[in-house]
Amino acid sequence: MTVSELPLDRLSIHQATLMQCDFRESIECFARHGVHQTAIWRDKLEQIGLDEAVQVLQGNDMKVNALCPGGLVTAVDDKSFNAALDMNRRWIDQSAALGADSLVIITGGLPDGETNLTVAHDRALEGLSRLIDPARAAGIRLALEPLHPMVCGGRSVISTVADALDMLDDLGADDVFGLAIDSYAVWWDLTLPYQLARAGSRLLHFHTSDWLRDTKDVRFDRGMPGDGVTDNRQIRGWMEQAGFAGPVEIEIFSERDWWQRPPDEVVETILERREAWL
Ligand code: ZN
Repeated sequence: MTVSELPLDRLSIHQATLMQCDFRESIECFARHGVHQTAIWRDKLEQIGLDEAVQVLQGNDMKVNALCPGGLVTAVDDKSFNAALDMNRRWIDQSAALGADSLVIITGGLPDGETNLTVAHDRALEGLSRLIDPARAAGIRLALEPLHPMVCGGRSVISTVADALDMLDDLGADDVFGLAIDSYAVWWDLTLPYQLARAGSRLLHFHTSDWLRDTKDVRFDRGMPGDGVTDNRQIRGWMEQAGFAGPVEIEIFSERDWWQRPPDEVVETILERREAWL
């Protein structure tokens, strides 16, 4: 399968890739390199506030693919569970105000003291089902993102695309729910091509970075595409065969390396890697 080079207008860079920048600096950096799509991170949004954020985005002609991350609805006690639902309703409204297509959803991991994975999974299913109506009313898609099984305990009880699709089947609201596929989280899955074909029109987002062969940290040592073992272009090809035509969203959490570098160097490197690796 030959996959064509990614055009610049299908490149998106998540704000979290430039953790060294504040909200405005990251958006301005993307724009001056001709990148006009991004995903907004909640912590950066909190720093600047919604009104000013919208101004900065409009001033830089920036399209927002998604707000990240929402969900985190596995709490077992009702007070925490209801508080999490309230927060998600707020994030759905913020997503709409930002002009985002989606709120990216991670389920959350096992709550403190809980060792029953099924309990946490069922709680997540219940929580996500309660978000269908507010998301539908706001016109915001909820993009469920499976995460790597090494973070199942703390971040996501959904680790594979297959399990995510089963959850979407249970939710039964494909006009609201879909998938965010992050190559870093699912590259190791030998059934991935089959699962992406099964997902079809439920594929909403494609996040990329690279898995470094000798990673030092499963969350914060993501590599630049081309530096590790992930064939992002192959995965994009499978996504496109299944009907996906959206952007490739670069999402690199890199405490040791890329977050330490000048932001222009990071974006220039991404643009170079686009030719062979995205
Ligand atoms: Zn992601």
